[in-house]
Amino acid sequence: MRLGISRCLLGEPVRFDGGHKRDHFLVDVLGQHVEWIPVCPEVEAGFGTPRESMRLVDDVAEPRLMAVRSHHDHTDRMRRYAKQRLRDLQSLNLSGYVFKKDPPSCGTQRVRVYARDGNLLGTGKGLFADAFQHTFPLTPIEEEGRLQDQSLRENFIERVFGYHRWQVLTARLTRGRLVAFHTAHKYLLLAHSPRHYRELGRLVTDVKQYSVRELARTYGQRFMEALAVKTTIRKHVNVLQHLAGHFKDALSPAVRDELHAVLGDYQKGFVPLSVPVTLIRHYVRVLDVPYLKDQVYLAPHPKELMSRNHV
Ligand code: SF4
Repeated sequence: MRLGISRCLLGEPVRFDGGHKRDHFLVDVLGQHVEWIPVCPEVEAGFGTPRESMRLVDDVAEPRLMAVRSHHDHTDRMRRYAKQRLRDLQSLNLSGYVFKKDPPSCGTQRVRVYARDGNLLGTGKGLFADAFQHTFPLTPIEEEGRLQDQSLRENFIERVFGYHRWQVLTARLTRGRLVAFHTAHKYLLLAHSPRHYRELGRLVTDVKQYSVRELARTYGQRFMEALAVKTTIRKHVNVLQHLAGHFKDALSPAVRDELHAVLGDYQKGFVPLSVPVTLIRHYVRVLDVPYLKDQVYLAPHPKELMSRNHV
């Protein structure tokens, strides 16, 4: 699984001042599970290191990229570079991208935009990050700063792994495989967005009315939209109760009470989500519940990523 990344986050000294912004989680933890494709737009566009710092100016919606001291306008050069680099990245089929927050090339949001006289006009998007989002609208992106927030990190990891599974499927998509994919993702979708869960369910029910190409486009877009919706404890409790409903009659009253108590502890915030999920996964295995065995919700990504402890 390949993810793009702002090169300075890997510890490479490519920043304007010759420094870097190595990120421990990205390099040492997530890096164990993905192949990073490092990109430094400013170095690759030929500005060198160290270089004069740049900023966005003129127009919040369509800012120019300008050197702070010399006032050289580098917009066209950066746009030409971005066009070529994004074409190259297309063949790598990235499953996500982590950008450095704030810089005028890599920031994905709230990048400061100035008037020529130095007054702050508002905020916008870095030029390369903006071009990336236009070229790859479904690809999950996030900024390293936001990944310090555990629930945003959890959501990003789920989107990346979900998108990767979708990419694998679309390489050999058939109607039957789409139905199987949807079936396996039902509870994950329900945990994010009951509305998308219902809409995608209708799409899959009417699968014969659409061409495979239409299905790929519509389902992929709605699927990624769904995963971007934040989960909540309430939505997880709903899913956990649905899951337990598949096998609770096979449990003794005492075991059923214990499961019920664990769900209650999760609902009250006494234990993380990983506790009821691990318990349910255990019952699915020992009771051999076929419908639940393949549910992605029960194991959406490698446990080493230590997520699902914060939702
Ligand atoms: S352009 Fe992007 S990758 Fe390069 S140093 Fe700046 S933030 Fe890092």
